Amino acid sequence: MKLLLQAISRYSNGMDVKRDAFVHLLRSASESVQAFVYPPHCLLCRTPLDESEGLCPGCWESMDIIEPPRCARCGCPGLSHPCTNCADKDYVFSRLLALTPFSRSVQRMVHMMKYQGQTAAGHTLGRALGWMLEGESLPEPRPVVVPVPLHGSRLRERGYNQSVLIARALARVLELSVEDRALKRVRATETQTNLDSAERGANVEGAFIVRRKDPVSKRPVLLVDDVVTTGATANACAAALLEAGATEVHVAAVACPYFDAEEPDAQSVVTGSDLFI
Ligand SMILES: [Zn+2]
Ligand SMILES: [Zn+2]
Repeated sequence: MKLLLQAISRYSNGMDVKRDAFVHLLRSASESVQAFVYPPHCLLCRTPLDESEGLCPGCWESMDIIEPPRCARCGCPGLSHPCTNCADKDYVFSRLLALTPFSRSVQRMVHMMKYQGQTAAGHTLGRALGWMLEGESLPEPRPVVVPVPLHGSRLRERGYNQSVLIARALARVLELSVEDRALKRVRATETQTNLDSAERGANVEGAFIVRRKDPVSKRPVLLVDDVVTTGATANACAAALLEAGATEVHVAAVACPYFDAEEPDAQSVVTGSDLFI
């Protein structure tokens, strides 16, 4: 509020306050007011936080963020390439890296982001994914970030694309540019939840086109999605991007319920959920 008053005072006194600086001051003031009215708290357990970091230390821990070593192709933890998770997959993208194996905490965050309008969850997940990717080798030259698009009808219904939220937060951490209009979903696809791997591939085949070729041509692309399961959607997007001239496509996702050889029922945790829209 103090900053807002300072800004208005300077502006009204006719001082040379440039528009960008004024907007910046207003934004800072707005954030100050917001922090006063809604003090930062953990998105999951509501514990008050000193700074708006999204989650408290305990909830960060419960996200179960995947640590190396991981498969060089699908990012599955603890296994070497090619691993049992991806040996039978026809990925056209070069690499998939997921932040988490879809722990309960991440399921809650994804649900908040997609169905409860809590866009802050998208920023938190995107930043965390960006921090993780800082420790990985990204393709050269620096890739352009492209979020998986929603179909227009779904976008109107939700009001935002959760993959764009994640992509923007990730790109800020990595200082990459985002092309959120490069891909278009031209066909509304039925929910993938109850389809097997082959059906998922058929369901999304031809569902995406590249509508802006220049930003993705002759350079690598970092495709961003919220949850990758069989990889069918990411594969369809990657196929369209490669067709448009992208040199290679890497995929970054908040979660992938990797098959775990020691825990073969691990995927059942997402069966029947409706999170993959
Ligand atoms: Zn917490
Ligand atoms: Zn693998």
